[in-house]
Amino acid sequence: MNWISNFVRPKIRALVKKAEVPENLWHKCPACTQMIFHRELEASLRVCPHCGHHMRIRARQRLQMLFDDGKFTAIELPEIVVDPLRFRDRKRYVDRLREATAATAEKEALLAAHGRMDGEAAVIAAFDFDFMGGSMGLAVGEGLLAAARLAVMQEAPLIVIPASGGARMQEGILSLMQMPRTVIAVEEVKEAGLPYIVVLTDPTTGGVSASFAMLGDVAIAEPGAVIGFTGRRVIEETIRETLPEGFQRAEYLLEHGMVDMVVQRRDLRATLINLLRLLRDKRPPAAILPLPHGESVRMHGRHDTNRPAAKPAARNA
Ligand SMILES: [Zn+2]
Repeated sequence: MNWISNFVRPKIRALVKKAEVPENLWHKCPACTQMIFHRELEASLRVCPHCGHHMRIRARQRLQMLFDDGKFTAIELPEIVVDPLRFRDRKRYVDRLREATAATAEKEALLAAHGRMDGEAAVIAAFDFDFMGGSMGLAVGEGLLAAARLAVMQEAPLIVIPASGGARMQEGILSLMQMPRTVIAVEEVKEAGLPYIVVLTDPTTGGVSASFAMLGDVAIAEPGAVIGFTGRRVIEETIRETLPEGFQRAEYLLEHGMVDMVVQRRDLRATLINLLRLLRDKRPPAAILPLPHGESVRMHGRHDTNRPAAKPAARNA
Protein backbone atom coordinates (compact mmCIF):
# COMPACT_ATOMS: atom_id res chain seq x y z
CA MET A 1 0.00 0.00 0.00
CA ASN A 2 1.76 3.03 -1.22
CA TRP A 3 0.32 6.46 -1.81
CA ILE A 4 2.61 7.05 -4.80
CA SER A 5 1.74 3.84 -6.67
CA ASN A 6 -1.97 3.90 -5.82
CA PHE A 7 -2.75 7.53 -6.38
CA VAL A 8 0.03 9.52 -8.04
CA ARG A 9 1.01 7.03 -10.73
CA PRO A 10 -2.52 6.48 -12.12
CA LYS A 11 -2.97 10.25 -12.24
CA ILE A 12 0.21 10.70 -14.23
CA ARG A 13 -0.79 7.84 -16.56
CA ALA A 14 -4.16 9.48 -17.17
CA LEU A 15 -2.46 12.74 -18.06
CA VAL A 16 -0.06 11.06 -20.47
CA LYS A 17 -2.88 9.11 -22.13
CA LYS A 18 -4.91 12.24 -22.78
CA ALA A 19 -1.98 13.85 -24.50
CA GLU A 20 -1.78 10.95 -26.97
CA VAL A 21 -5.25 11.39 -28.45
CA PRO A 22 -4.77 14.58 -30.55
CA GLU A 23 -1.95 12.91 -32.49
CA ASN A 24 -4.46 10.46 -33.99
CA LEU A 25 -6.68 13.23 -35.30
CA TRP A 26 -4.42 13.92 -38.25
CA HIS A 27 -3.07 11.46 -40.78
CA LYS A 28 -0.19 12.08 -43.10
CA CYS A 29 -0.74 10.81 -46.63
CA PRO A 30 2.19 8.50 -47.43
CA ALA A 31 2.05 9.52 -51.10
CA CYS A 32 1.77 13.34 -51.05
CA THR A 33 2.62 13.94 -47.32
CA GLN A 34 -0.41 16.26 -46.92
CA MET A 35 -2.11 16.20 -43.52
CA ILE A 36 -5.69 14.93 -43.55
CA PHE A 37 -8.16 15.31 -40.70
CA HIS A 38 -9.27 11.85 -39.51
CA ARG A 39 -12.98 12.49 -40.08
CA GLU A 40 -12.33 13.68 -43.60
CA LEU A 41 -10.25 10.56 -44.22
CA GLU A 42 -13.00 8.24 -42.98
CA ALA A 43 -15.59 10.09 -45.06
CA SER A 44 -13.46 9.60 -48.18
CA LEU A 45 -13.14 5.83 -47.41
CA ARG A 46 -9.45 6.31 -46.59
CA VAL A 47 -8.62 7.76 -49.97
CA CYS A 48 -6.43 10.88 -49.84
CA PRO A 49 -8.61 13.86 -50.89
CA HIS A 50 -5.47 15.65 -52.18
CA CYS A 51 -3.82 13.05 -54.43
CA GLY A 52 -6.28 10.11 -54.56
CA HIS A 53 -3.86 7.69 -52.88
CA HIS A 54 -5.77 4.61 -51.68
CA MET A 55 -4.71 3.80 -48.12
CA ARG A 56 -5.27 0.40 -46.59
CA ILE A 57 -8.67 -0.16 -45.08
CA ARG A 58 -9.80 -2.54 -42.36
CA ALA A 59 -11.81 -5.61 -43.39
CA ARG A 60 -14.83 -4.63 -41.33
CA GLN A 61 -15.01 -1.16 -42.88
CA ARG A 62 -14.62 -2.78 -46.28
CA LEU A 63 -17.67 -5.00 -45.72
CA GLN A 64 -19.71 -2.09 -44.36
CA MET A 65 -18.84 -0.17 -47.50
CA LEU A 66 -20.02 -2.92 -49.85
CA PHE A 67 -23.14 -4.49 -48.34
CA ASP A 68 -26.57 -2.83 -48.49
CA ASP A 69 -26.92 -0.29 -45.63
CA GLY A 70 -23.56 -1.53 -44.34
CA LYS A 71 -25.31 -4.56 -42.82
CA PHE A 72 -23.90 -8.08 -42.91
CA THR A 73 -23.70 -11.30 -40.90
CA ALA A 74 -20.18 -12.51 -40.20
CA ILE A 75 -19.53 -16.19 -40.81
CA GLU A 76 -18.16 -17.97 -37.76
CA LEU A 77 -14.67 -19.15 -38.77
CA PRO A 78 -14.28 -22.93 -38.32
CA GLU A 79 -12.29 -24.16 -35.32
CA ILE A 80 -8.69 -24.97 -36.20
CA VAL A 81 -5.61 -26.25 -34.42
CA VAL A 82 -3.90 -23.12 -33.11
CA ASP A 83 -0.12 -23.05 -33.48
CA PRO A 84 0.27 -26.63 -34.74
CA LEU A 85 4.08 -26.32 -34.96
CA ARG A 86 4.50 -24.60 -31.57
CA PHE A 87 6.44 -22.01 -33.48
CA ARG A 88 8.65 -19.46 -31.86
CA ASP A 89 10.92 -16.80 -33.34
CA ARG A 90 11.64 -13.71 -31.25
CA LYS A 91 8.19 -14.25 -29.76
CA ARG A 92 5.94 -17.26 -29.43
CA TYR A 93 3.42 -17.50 -32.27
CA VAL A 94 0.52 -17.79 -29.80
CA ASP A 95 1.64 -14.51 -28.25
CA ARG A 96 1.75 -12.87 -31.66
CA LEU A 97 -1.78 -14.10 -32.33
CA ARG A 98 -2.98 -12.77 -28.98
CA GLU A 99 -1.37 -9.37 -29.64
CA ALA A 100 -2.88 -9.20 -33.13
CA THR A 101 -6.33 -9.99 -31.74
CA ALA A 102 -5.95 -7.32 -29.06
CA ALA A 103 -4.73 -4.72 -31.55
CA THR A 104 -7.32 -5.36 -34.26
CA ALA A 105 -10.34 -6.70 -32.32
CA GLU A 106 -10.54 -9.43 -34.97
CA LYS A 107 -10.05 -13.15 -34.45
CA GLU A 108 -8.08 -13.70 -37.64
CA ALA A 109 -6.77 -12.07 -40.80
CA LEU A 110 -9.95 -12.93 -42.71
CA LEU A 111 -13.43 -11.57 -42.19
CA ALA A 112 -16.08 -13.45 -44.15
CA ALA A 113 -19.72 -12.44 -44.18
CA HIS A 114 -22.97 -12.79 -46.05
CA GLY A 115 -25.50 -10.11 -46.72
CA ARG A 116 -27.24 -8.36 -49.57
CA MET A 117 -25.92 -6.27 -52.42
CA ASP A 118 -28.62 -4.37 -54.28
CA GLY A 119 -31.12 -6.69 -52.60
CA GLU A 120 -29.45 -9.90 -53.81
CA ALA A 121 -27.54 -12.37 -51.61
CA ALA A 122 -23.75 -12.12 -51.72
CA VAL A 123 -20.84 -13.59 -49.78
CA ILE A 124 -17.74 -11.46 -49.26
CA ALA A 125 -14.46 -12.49 -47.65
CA ALA A 126 -12.07 -9.63 -46.92
CA PHE A 127 -8.53 -9.78 -45.57
CA ASP A 128 -7.42 -7.60 -42.69
CA PHE A 129 -3.86 -6.48 -43.34
CA ASP A 130 -3.56 -5.18 -39.78
CA PHE A 131 -3.82 -8.75 -38.51
CA MET A 132 -0.29 -10.14 -38.99
CA GLY A 133 0.04 -8.62 -42.45
CA GLY A 134 -3.11 -10.39 -43.68
CA SER A 135 -1.08 -13.60 -43.81
CA MET A 136 -2.81 -16.81 -44.83
CA GLY A 137 -2.64 -19.70 -42.40
CA LEU A 138 -4.99 -22.54 -41.48
CA ALA A 139 -7.72 -20.23 -40.17
CA VAL A 140 -7.76 -18.07 -43.30
CA GLY A 141 -7.82 -21.15 -45.55
CA GLU A 142 -10.70 -22.64 -43.57
CA GLY A 143 -12.49 -19.30 -43.63
CA LEU A 144 -12.26 -19.09 -47.41
CA LEU A 145 -13.55 -22.67 -47.73
CA ALA A 146 -16.47 -21.83 -45.43
CA ALA A 147 -17.24 -18.68 -47.42
CA ALA A 148 -17.15 -20.59 -50.73
CA ARG A 149 -19.42 -23.33 -49.39
CA LEU A 150 -21.87 -20.80 -48.03
CA ALA A 151 -21.94 -19.08 -51.42
CA VAL A 152 -22.76 -22.43 -53.09
CA MET A 153 -25.43 -23.17 -50.49
CA GLN A 154 -27.05 -19.76 -50.91
CA GLU A 155 -26.50 -19.78 -54.70
CA ALA A 156 -24.80 -16.45 -54.17
CA PRO A 157 -21.73 -14.94 -55.81
CA LEU A 158 -18.42 -14.99 -53.94
CA ILE A 159 -16.33 -11.85 -53.72
CA VAL A 160 -12.87 -12.12 -52.18
CA ILE A 161 -10.79 -9.06 -51.30
CA PRO A 162 -7.19 -9.97 -50.54
CA ALA A 163 -4.80 -7.63 -48.70
CA SER A 164 -1.99 -9.92 -47.75
CA GLY A 165 1.74 -10.39 -47.63
CA GLY A 166 1.26 -14.09 -48.45
CA ALA A 167 1.53 -17.30 -46.49
CA ARG A 168 1.87 -17.22 -42.69
CA MET A 169 5.38 -18.45 -42.10
CA GLN A 170 4.70 -19.37 -38.48
CA GLU A 171 2.58 -22.26 -39.78
CA GLY A 172 5.25 -23.51 -42.19
CA ILE A 173 4.13 -26.03 -44.78
CA LEU A 174 0.58 -25.96 -43.38
CA SER A 175 0.21 -22.37 -44.54
CA LEU A 176 1.44 -23.32 -48.02
CA MET A 177 -1.20 -26.08 -48.08
CA GLN A 178 -3.81 -23.33 -48.00
CA MET A 179 -2.88 -22.40 -51.56
CA PRO A 180 -4.35 -25.57 -53.18
CA ARG A 181 -7.17 -25.60 -50.62
CA THR A 182 -8.32 -22.09 -51.48
CA VAL A 183 -8.08 -22.95 -55.18
CA ILE A 184 -10.42 -25.90 -54.53
CA ALA A 185 -12.76 -23.58 -52.61
CA VAL A 186 -12.96 -21.26 -55.60
CA GLU A 187 -13.43 -24.18 -57.98
CA GLU A 188 -16.49 -25.28 -55.99
CA VAL A 189 -18.06 -21.87 -56.58
CA LYS A 190 -17.21 -21.97 -60.28
CA GLU A 191 -18.53 -25.52 -60.70
CA ALA A 192 -21.83 -24.36 -59.24
CA GLY A 193 -21.95 -21.77 -62.04
CA LEU A 194 -21.73 -18.87 -59.61
CA PRO A 195 -19.66 -15.72 -60.15
CA TYR A 196 -16.34 -15.43 -58.35
CA ILE A 197 -14.91 -11.93 -58.29
CA VAL A 198 -11.64 -10.77 -56.73
CA VAL A 199 -10.84 -7.23 -55.72
CA LEU A 200 -7.06 -7.00 -55.51
CA THR A 201 -6.04 -4.42 -52.94
CA ASP A 202 -2.72 -3.20 -51.62
CA PRO A 203 -0.82 -5.46 -51.18
CA THR A 204 -1.68 -8.79 -52.82
CA THR A 205 1.55 -10.77 -52.81
CA GLY A 206 3.18 -14.14 -52.14
CA GLY A 207 1.12 -17.28 -51.71
CA VAL A 208 -2.14 -15.34 -51.88
CA SER A 209 -1.40 -13.92 -55.34
CA ALA A 210 -0.18 -17.39 -56.37
CA SER A 211 -3.49 -19.05 -55.54
CA PHE A 212 -7.14 -17.92 -55.35
CA ALA A 213 -6.41 -14.22 -55.90
CA MET A 214 -5.57 -14.62 -59.59
CA LEU A 215 -8.52 -16.90 -60.42
CA GLY A 216 -11.41 -14.44 -60.44
CA ASP A 217 -13.93 -14.55 -63.29
CA VAL A 218 -13.41 -10.81 -63.10
CA ALA A 219 -10.26 -9.35 -61.56
CA ILE A 220 -10.70 -5.85 -60.20
CA ALA A 221 -7.85 -3.88 -58.63
CA GLU A 222 -7.71 -0.73 -56.55
CA PRO A 223 -5.60 2.15 -57.90
CA GLY A 224 -1.93 1.96 -57.01
CA ALA A 225 -2.21 -1.47 -55.35
CA VAL A 226 0.96 -3.58 -55.31
CA ILE A 227 0.09 -6.94 -56.85
CA GLY A 228 2.71 -9.57 -57.49
CA PHE A 229 4.41 -12.67 -56.18
CA THR A 230 7.89 -11.54 -55.12
CA GLY A 231 8.88 -8.06 -54.09
CA ARG A 232 10.45 -5.72 -56.60
CA ARG A 233 13.84 -5.54 -54.86
CA VAL A 234 14.23 -9.32 -54.69
CA ILE A 235 13.47 -9.68 -58.41
CA GLU A 236 15.91 -6.89 -59.32
CA GLU A 237 18.66 -8.49 -57.27
CA THR A 238 17.99 -11.91 -58.77
CA ILE A 239 17.80 -10.99 -62.44
CA ARG A 240 20.20 -8.01 -62.12
CA GLU A 241 17.93 -5.77 -64.15
CA THR A 242 16.14 -2.54 -63.35
CA LEU A 243 12.41 -3.09 -63.50
CA PRO A 244 10.17 -0.64 -65.37
CA GLU A 245 8.37 2.24 -63.66
CA GLY A 246 5.13 1.21 -61.98
CA PHE A 247 6.01 -2.50 -62.10
CA GLN A 248 3.61 -4.65 -60.02
CA ARG A 249 1.16 -1.77 -59.65
CA ALA A 250 -2.53 -2.19 -60.50
CA GLU A 251 -2.32 0.14 -63.54
CA TYR A 252 0.71 -1.73 -64.95
CA LEU A 253 -1.12 -5.03 -64.55
CA LEU A 254 -4.17 -3.61 -66.30
CA GLU A 255 -2.00 -2.53 -69.26
CA HIS A 256 -0.51 -6.02 -69.42
CA GLY A 257 -3.81 -7.86 -69.21
CA MET A 258 -3.42 -9.30 -65.71
CA VAL A 259 -6.42 -7.46 -64.29
CA ASP A 260 -9.68 -6.51 -65.98
CA MET A 261 -10.28 -3.11 -64.43
CA VAL A 262 -8.88 -0.63 -61.94
CA VAL A 263 -11.71 0.84 -59.92
CA GLN A 264 -11.73 3.78 -57.50
CA ARG A 265 -12.83 2.77 -54.03
CA ARG A 266 -15.86 5.08 -54.09
CA ASP A 267 -17.09 3.31 -57.28
CA LEU A 268 -16.39 -0.23 -56.07
CA ARG A 269 -19.83 -1.10 -54.72
CA ALA A 270 -21.65 0.20 -57.81
CA THR A 271 -19.19 -1.61 -60.12
CA LEU A 272 -19.62 -4.91 -58.27
CA ILE A 273 -23.41 -4.62 -58.27
CA ASN A 274 -23.37 -3.90 -62.00
CA LEU A 275 -21.08 -6.86 -62.72
CA LEU A 276 -23.17 -9.21 -60.59
CA ARG A 277 -26.32 -8.09 -62.34
CA LEU A 278 -24.74 -8.81 -65.73
CA LEU A 279 -23.52 -12.22 -64.60
CA ARG A 280 -26.77 -13.15 -62.86
CA ASP A 281 -29.14 -12.71 -65.79
CA LYS A 282 -28.75 -16.12 -67.36
CA ARG A 283 -30.54 -15.38 -70.61
CA PRO A 284 -30.47 -11.75 -71.57
CA PRO A 285 -32.43 -10.83 -74.70
CA ALA A 286 -30.15 -11.56 -77.64
CA ALA A 287 -30.07 -9.31 -80.66
CA ILE A 288 -30.24 -11.08 -84.03
CA LEU A 289 -28.02 -9.20 -86.44
CA PRO A 290 -28.17 -9.99 -90.15
CA LEU A 291 -24.80 -10.57 -91.77
CA PRO A 292 -24.05 -9.25 -95.27
CA HIS A 293 -24.07 -12.73 -96.90
CA GLY A 294 -27.40 -13.75 -95.38
CA GLU A 295 -26.09 -15.67 -92.32
CA SER A 296 -27.20 -14.62 -88.89
CA VAL A 297 -25.35 -14.65 -85.60
CA ARG A 298 -26.58 -14.47 -82.02
CA MET A 299 -24.89 -11.81 -79.95
CA HIS A 300 -24.41 -12.95 -76.40
CA GLY A 301 -24.52 -10.18 -73.88
CA ARG A 302 -22.53 -12.07 -71.29
CA HIS A 303 -19.93 -14.68 -70.69
CA ASP A 304 -21.69 -17.84 -69.53
CA THR A 305 -19.40 -19.91 -67.33
CA ASN A 306 -21.68 -22.95 -67.58
CA ARG A 307 -21.55 -23.21 -71.31
CA PRO A 308 -18.47 -24.55 -73.09
CA ALA A 309 -16.93 -21.95 -75.37
CA ALA A 310 -18.70 -22.00 -78.72
CA LYS A 311 -16.55 -23.10 -81.62
CA PRO A 312 -16.27 -20.51 -84.38
CA ALA A 313 -18.61 -21.40 -87.22
CA ALA A 314 -16.85 -22.82 -90.23
CA ARG A 315 -16.87 -20.00 -92.76
CA ASN A 316 -15.53 -21.93 -95.73
CA ALA A 317 -18.07 -24.76 -95.60
ZN1 LIG B 1 -2.15 12.19 -50.75
